[in-house]
Order: sequence, then structure tokens, then C-alpha cells
Amino acid sequence: MTESCMYWERVSEKIYLFTSDRYALVNSVAVLTEAGIIVVDALPFPDEAEQIARFLALRTGLKFHSMILTHHHMDHVYGLFAFPESLDIIAHERCRQKLLDVGETSLQEARQSDPIFDQVTLRIPTVTFTEGEMSLNAGDKVFRLFPLPGHTDDNIGIFMEEERILIAGDAVMAIPIIADGDWQQALDSLKYIREMSPETIIQGHGEVILRGEVKTVLNRYITYLECVRDKAARVLRLGRERKQLWNIPLEDCGLERVPLGIASHRLHVANLLSVYDKLKAASSS
Ligand SMILES: [Zn+2]
Repeated sequence: MTESCMYWERVSEKIYLFTSDRYALVNSVAVLTEAGIIVVDALPFPDEAEQIARFLALRTGLKFHSMILTHHHMDHVYGLFAFPESLDIIAHERCRQKLLDVGETSLQEARQSDPIFDQVTLRIPTVTFTEGEMSLNAGDKVFRLFPLPGHTDDNIGIFMEEERILIAGDAVMAIPIIADGDWQQALDSLKYIREMSPETIIQGHGEVILRGEVKTVLNRYITYLECVRDKAARVLRLGRERKQLWNIPLEDCGLERVPLGIASHRLHVANLLSVYDKLKAASSS
């Protein structure tokens, strides 16, 4: 049994951030509105999610309004079960489809590797949007939901216009991960966010990006993805073996190993392999 290492902080008076130390610093966000609490993503472990639900109810005395899911990955989805069943779960339609397609199967796999997930019931989004953007009004707050694909094709961002705070899901994370997504889309999403110039970014994993550092951090991630493409293209161009990609350190692309606390190098290599394979497929077709 792993010790619970969830911790929380306040991003502003109305925004709480919960981070799991047990799973890649994944984040869950709660926004307090006059209409109730809106929860964006839930942590993967049942005990952490239950702790958050209890904490919010007790501390704020507010009811829950709804939940928003940034994308279908288990580390954002599983904890949703700990919140009232009557709540709407808002997401992109592609997220709902993905969960209907692969959700139960991957939950079974998770249960086999750790029985702690026996407690989890998979929750499927109830309100989705397909084209363009969606606006969510909750009391005094307006949330703009819009696609930020790349990490996955269903990833969305949630922008709070007034505060200029962006909850980015995994479109922004301490090491951009595109392994099962699309490199070009990931890059375009980061550039789109840079253009929006939010004041604060709550990323899917890792610490909050604060006013004054938003541009620098986004530029670092953009440079990283461009570097991954250049390195992969070089190995391909020189006709070197695919496994040579393992020898390219993360630091060569301007990022450090520490931030995610897990196998950073492995994630980085997965990015290189993903881009390499796509370039190779494109060059031979
Ligand atoms: Zn993810």
C-alpha cells in the first residue's frame, strides 16, 4: 500500500490545485463559483480523489456544480468516481468516444496491476462538444473550452477569461509528451497558447506557470519539440539505427530530467521514437 502523497495549494482565492506525488505530479483543479465548485480532472488514485472531494465540501461549504475532463488518460479520469454521480462531466466528444472504446479495458488492466483500482467506477462524459468551442457559464464565471490537441487528439483547454488563467490539460506539461499523439498538433497547440498569452497556466503535470514566466516556459517547450524533430530527422538522414535515439539526452533539447519525478529519459525517447517513425513512414511513402 503506497502512502498518500497528495498535496494542495491555492492558485488564487477561488482556485485550488491538487497534485499527486504518486503519479507524475498530475494535477486536479477546483474552481469555486457562485453556482458551485467546478472540478477539472481528478487524480488517478481512489484515496486521493476521495480526500479531495471531502476536503472541498468541508472547506468551502459549497455544492459541486460540474466536472470537466481535459482528455481521456486514466491519470485524469479515474478519480472522477469520488464525486457525486449526478454531476455532469463535460469533455470533447472525442474524449467520450475514447473512454467508451478503451476505458473499461484499460481499467481492467490497471486493476490487475494494482487492486486499489477495484474501487474505481469508470465515469463517461455526459456533455460534449464536437466542433469549435464551448462556453460554460457558472454563476459569476465564464469558462471557454476549446481543443488543444497533440498530446492526444481529444485534449482541451479551459480558459477563464477574466483572470486569464488557462487550465491546459496535457497540452502543457513539464516534459511535453507526444508519444501516442501528434507532434505537429502538439507544437501548434503550444504556439496557439503563446499567442493567447494567458497570465497563468495550470499544466496537466507539474507546477503552475506563473505570470512573468509563461512566455519563457512555452518557448522552452516549443524549442524542445522542434529539437526532438531535428534529432529524429538527423538519425534518419544519416541512416543510423533507430536505437541510437536512446543516446540522445533530454538535456540536449533544453529540458531537465527532474520535473516529472518519473522516467523522464524514457518519456523523452518515446517522443523521439514517435517522431522518427512518422518521418520514416512519410519518407518511404
Ligand atoms: Zn495525458
